[in-house]
Amino acid sequence: MRLLSPRRYVHLPHLPYPGKENYPSIPDYQRYLEKYADHFGLTPERQEIAEIKRGADCFDVRCVSGLTVQCKFVVIATGVFSHPIWPQIDGLTPGEGLKAIVMHAHDWNGPSAFVGGRILVIGSGISGVSIAEECASAGLRVMVSRRSERTRLITPRLLGLDVLHWFRPLEFLPRSFFGRFCRRGLHPPAYDNGYRKLVASGKIVELPEIKQVQGGSIRLGDGTCRDADVIVAATGYRYETPFLPQEMARMPAGHPLVNRCESRQWPGLFCVGAPCARRIDSEFLRGIASDASCVAERIRRRLNA
Ligand SMILES: Cc1cc2nc3c(=O)[nH]c(=O)nc-3n(C[C@H](O)[C@H](O)[C@H](O)COP(=O)(O)OP(=O)(O)OC[C@H]3O[C@@H](n4cnc5c(N)ncnc54)[C@H](O)[C@@H]3O)c2cc1C
Repeated sequence: MRLLSPRRYVHLPHLPYPGKENYPSIPDYQRYLEKYADHFGLTPERQEIAEIKRGADCFDVRCVSGLTVQCKFVVIATGVFSHPIWPQIDGLTPGEGLKAIVMHAHDWNGPSAFVGGRILVIGSGISGVSIAEECASAGLRVMVSRRSERTRLITPRLLGLDVLHWFRPLEFLPRSFFGRFCRRGLHPPAYDNGYRKLVASGKIVELPEIKQVQGGSIRLGDGTCRDADVIVAATGYRYETPFLPQEMARMPAGHPLVNRCESRQWPGLFCVGAPCARRIDSEFLRGIASDASCVAERIRRRLNA
């Protein structure tokens, strides 16, 4: 798999992405992140955060391991992909009498383990379409079950330029301009990197919504049944911050209310990588790069004040 953004939109602050390919592969980008940490001497101490409380003049952070830390500032960077949404389909519970291998797109590792198999992808959003394209190109028999009448697709290149280039001016508009999208979370259309052609040639078969799964057999909304060896739920993610108190004001999409990445209720608590934290692209790499610089600078100024 490759990033959908071209190289010029994936640089993090102060260390450009070095690769030459226009669309970086995921393993190359992972190596860049490792190199990035090395370059700046960042040695993460890995702890899962269980709870953050607001103290008198700092935050009390409790880790799952029991360790507690007091911090003057906290930056939440838990991303939009930490909490997969599992579809509510009768009989679709991994390991419970299902013949098919069942997983969420979150755990997808490529098609190589399933060569020759029949794969059913649930959902035709960005992940579903990418996985379907990848599997069809690798010779698997692919079905995509979708709720809507049509799969929403966008052409990745327009007039010779990446589509992001044309959307770029929107990123400088104030968040208020995008009202509903920011409150409920962005659901952009999927990139068509061959999907339409694969459907037209019969290599991807589009199906209606699934009603029930029994063993390896899948009953669809139109009453017909299909069999599959692998079922991948590409049914999205929910932005969640279970370590923050319930009473913290949140948007319907789950992210805390922030102004320029900083919590309105708890000054000193920042969110980077949350939907619309500062701009419309705040949850994507280019938005994260610019928001991270801005947050770091604000913390630096307050520490020096
Ligand atoms: C297949 C795929 C392709 C993509 N392609 C692009 C692209 O082309 N361009 C683009 O701009 N974006 C792309 N994205 C989105 C991009 O990956 C995200 O914007 C980016 O990863 C967000 O970075 P982040 O650090 O905010 O969050 P993440 O990368 O999601 O990292 C969050 C981290 O927080 C950790 N965490 C969660 N909860 C806790 C807790 N309680 N305690 C401690 N740690 C916790 C998680 O384990 C994880 O390590 C893609 C995403 C996917 C899945």
